Amino acid sequence: MQQPDTLKPTVLNAAELPEWTNAELRALFNVLDLPKDPDAAAAFLAKHGHEVRGIALRKTKIDAAFLDAVPAVEIISSYSAGLDNLDVQATRSRGITIENTSHILAEDVANAAVGLALAVTRDFINADAFVRTGTWPEHGHYLLGRSISRMKVGIVGLGTIGSAIAKRLQAFGSNLAYFGPSRKSVDIPYYDDVAHLARDCDMLILTCPLSPSTHHLVNAAVLDALGPRGYLVNISRGPVVDEAALIAALAQDGIAGAALDVFEYEPVVPEALIRDRRVVLTPHIGSATDETRRSMAENVVDTLARHFGLPGPRGRQIDAAVESIG
Ligand code: NAP
Repeated sequence: MQQPDTLKPTVLNAAELPEWTNAELRALFNVLDLPKDPDAAAAFLAKHGHEVRGIALRKTKIDAAFLDAVPAVEIISSYSAGLDNLDVQATRSRGITIENTSHILAEDVANAAVGLALAVTRDFINADAFVRTGTWPEHGHYLLGRSISRMKVGIVGLGTIGSAIAKRLQAFGSNLAYFGPSRKSVDIPYYDDVAHLARDCDMLILTCPLSPSTHHLVNAAVLDALGPRGYLVNISRGPVVDEAALIAALAQDGIAGAALDVFEYEPVVPEALIRDRRVVLTPHIGSATDETRRSMAENVVDTLARHFGLPGPRGRQIDAAVESIG
């Protein structure tokens, strides 16, 4: 039996979730939809912010001022893995629990990263066009690609996604190394300097979060260190790469190619990257499978329900072991 709205905890919906997820949220919670227009959102928060106990989040920016407007919030559940739109420190300092979907999407994002790495090193996109346009009979053999199994691949950010990529590349026979803020207890060589990692590797795969310390982490010097036979794969966030420096490096044949799922000013992608046949482009689809996106949306509802001690909306027990980064 559904509780009357007045007895349900109030949740702010800032997540642009599928309609079936919104329906599940409405069944469990008193849901307040945050207006998209920033002025309307501010006025809405000034009026209703004190009622809010949970937030369903996707891309909305939540800073300290936003948190001040919702003083009773206990939990923020993000549809994403990346929390670059959330002031994590301010959120934690207020004792608010943070949930994200890193553990749900890691396998598919790792699959996408490896797919991009293969596409750029074996030139699959242009090879497909070579067959479709009927060029094969005319030109004969296609150009040789490069072997990822014989490469040293540097992973920048050996977290949930980076580790899932490492597992796949180990199966391929690639030689691995990684860079990050701290050495992990893993059997993969650690570098404390990203340029040194780039200098020693044939490919860099970026899987770190976007933060002030990773903004433009991959700059002209790192690309120069990667060198003319090196590849860059970015599945993290666009601004981790200095896009102008990447375009300049490609223009000077300073690197061999790049495969990019994310862009500095997405969805705007520079013409120089669009025109460059050595670059593989995808529209931020790392986690975009039917199964994973459904599971991510369910996780938003489930984590909020679990926090408030409510039954799972799909008639199943909510897994209390689901990882929390609160
Ligand atoms: P995670 O488990 O938190 O792992 C992030 C890793 O990055 C950690 O190992 C962390 O090291 C490391 N790191 C932190 N600061 C760093 C720095 N300054 N330099 C280098 N490494 C640093 O996160 P995840 O779930 O793997 O996700 C990683 C990122 O992928 C997300 O933040 C998001 O931006 C992106 N992502 C993209 C898509 C897509 O569709 N393209 C989908 C999902 C996620 P420590 O453990 O030492 O802190």
